[in-house]
Parts: sequence; C-alpha cells; structure tokens
Amino acid sequence: MEYIDLRSDTVTQPTPAMRKAMAEAVMGDDVYEDDPTVKELENKSAAILKKEAALFVPTGTFGNQLALLTHCSRGTEVILNENCHIVQHECGAAALISGVQLRCFEPANPYPVSKEYEKRIRIPGDIHEPVTSLLVTENPLSNGTVLPLSELTALKNLGERFNLPIHMDGARIFNAALSLNVSPAEIARCADSVMFCFSKGLCAPVGSMLAGTKEFIKKARKNRKLMGGGLHKAGAVAAAALVALQEMPPLLRDDHEKALLLGQLLSEIPELSVDITRIQINMVFFNFRNNNIDREALATYLMENGILINPPDKDGIIRLVTHHWITSDNLKTTVSAIKDFLL
Ligand SMILES: *Cc1c(COP(=O)(O)O)cnc(C)c1O
Repeated sequence: MEYIDLRSDTVTQPTPAMRKAMAEAVMGDDVYEDDPTVKELENKSAAILKKEAALFVPTGTFGNQLALLTHCSRGTEVILNENCHIVQHECGAAALISGVQLRCFEPANPYPVSKEYEKRIRIPGDIHEPVTSLLVTENPLSNGTVLPLSELTALKNLGERFNLPIHMDGARIFNAALSLNVSPAEIARCADSVMFCFSKGLCAPVGSMLAGTKEFIKKARKNRKLMGGGLHKAGAVAAAALVALQEMPPLLRDDHEKALLLGQLLSEIPELSVDITRIQINMVFFNFRNNNIDREALATYLMENGILINPPDKDGIIRLVTHHWITSDNLKTTVSAIKDFLL
C-alpha cells in the first residue's frame, strides 16, 4: 500500500533525474579530495551561500555537530534556543563529541531573540564561569517560523560586538529564503557557518552541507574524518544532491502553497485550531480544541486509512509536512479522513 506520508519532508523520494545522475556519477576517493562530483557540489553550495568553502557531510546532525566541534573548545558554552534541533533531536551529541555546555533560552516571544543571547554571553574574567564560544541559530526554527533578516542581522551584530562566531542550522534554508523572498546568501550572510540539508524538501537521498570560511572548512574536513564522516566514493550520492541544488529550490514554493491549502482545509473543521497566519514554509501545526481527544488514536486511524503522521508533541500539537510527492488530492483525502475520525 502506498501511504500519503506527511510525517516529514525527509520521506521524499529522489526524482528520476536524481536517479539517473546517481547511476552515471563520476566518482573518486573524496578522502583524497579526488571526487569531482563532490567537489562540484561543494563549490556550487559555497557559491550559492556566498561562503568561501563548503564540506559535504552525511547528515544535518553531523553537520551541526561538526560545526560545534570545529568552533568550540571543550568546556566552553554555546548559547541557543531550547527548542532547537541541537538541543532536542541530536541525542546529547554536543556533550559527547565537543564536550560543550549548552546554555538554552526559552523563546517566550519569537523576537527579539538577540536580547536572549546577549543576556547569556559570559564576560571573561570570572574564575568560576565557562567561556562563551558560539551562538547558534536556526532558520527556519523547528516550529516552522522563519526568522526575518532584521533579527538575523541583530544577531550578527551581537556576534561581532562580542567577537563570537555564529552557526546557523539552516536545514531548510531554501524554504526560509523563499518565505522571506531573499536569496539564501542573504540569510547565510548573518552567520559564520551554515548547515543545510539535501535530504529534506530538496528530495536527494542523502547528505548535508556545511559552509564557512576556507580556514574553518579546512579544520572541519579533518574533524569530519575524526567523526567517521570521510565518505570515499561520495560522488554516488553527491550527484543526486547536485540535481537537488540545481532543480529543486524554486519548486519548494509548491510545498509552501500545499501547506497553506492544507491549513485552510483544516481550519474549516470546527473541532480544530489552526493558525494559518503561522504557515510560512511547508509545515502546518494544528491542535484539537477539546483536550480529551485521543491524538494517538488519530495517528492510528489515519494509518489504517493509508496516511502517515507523527505522534503529537507534549502539548498535543500535531505537525504535518508537505513535500514534492504530496498532491492536493492527497491533502483533501487527509482532511476528509480527519473529519471521519471526528464523527
Ligand atoms: C532535519 C534537521 C536537522 C538534521 O538533519 P538529519 O539529516 O536528520 O540529521 C537539523 N536541524 C534541523 C532544524 C532539522 O530540521
């Protein structure tokens, strides 16, 4: 049975052009820096983000953790939003791999977040305190919010004022760029290092990119080896990522439109609360007005009807993600299944 899969955009299949590119990929040993396909992908990625250099990494988590390892010394402190991927979804790797302390803030209100960072920056000199080594931001945030350039610029200025680097987890930076109607480089400009994923809305099977200065990437290349991420004939997968980079970013607009359509259809169900003004990328969040509704039962019911969704979060909120392989008919089917569940 073919499911309508709204769990994430990581479930996307590669396009026929990607499969063809993988079959025909020119490969070499990338640990010797001999893989022309990887090189081309790294150069194109760096050019798109207007960074000096970039490094192909196996996953987004890998790219983030590699950035921490490369920016920070052990025992230093990294300031970040407590809901971000590095805190919530990377298994505590920052403690294990880089030995850093994560200093989190709770974003009461999305803006201005630069104040939240500033409050937590340590002023060197106190014998008891750890040293701040890095500020981390995401864009988009994991709740689908896209930070505006004004906010990112404020953060960049803060970093410059305190001489602290900024790492941006831009897993979906191309979605953010479309939503803000700016180039990805304008977003990337506000950070020293940027990670983005090929394996989400861009539909490539595997891979992420970490971009930054030449010097940073040179250090990161060695650290990537240390972390076990030196992929020898990586051109096999980089070939698909190249197609993704060239063909997919403009198509993400369709995913955003599908999310808006889904949000509108869901908002017509009286039992649900959906804030469609919050739909900025390919994610829709909804809750039931009645707290007693069994949300796990909804997931089970939908699965029995050929639709996959993730379980609700701790507040009962359900996230649906649109992507290249979801049609508007799929969305209508999903919404009527939710209505049937509520009958
Ligand atoms: C998906 C994601 C990642 C990590 O990507 P993986 O490839 O699954 O490791 C990191 N940050 C954010 C915000 C993400 O959405």
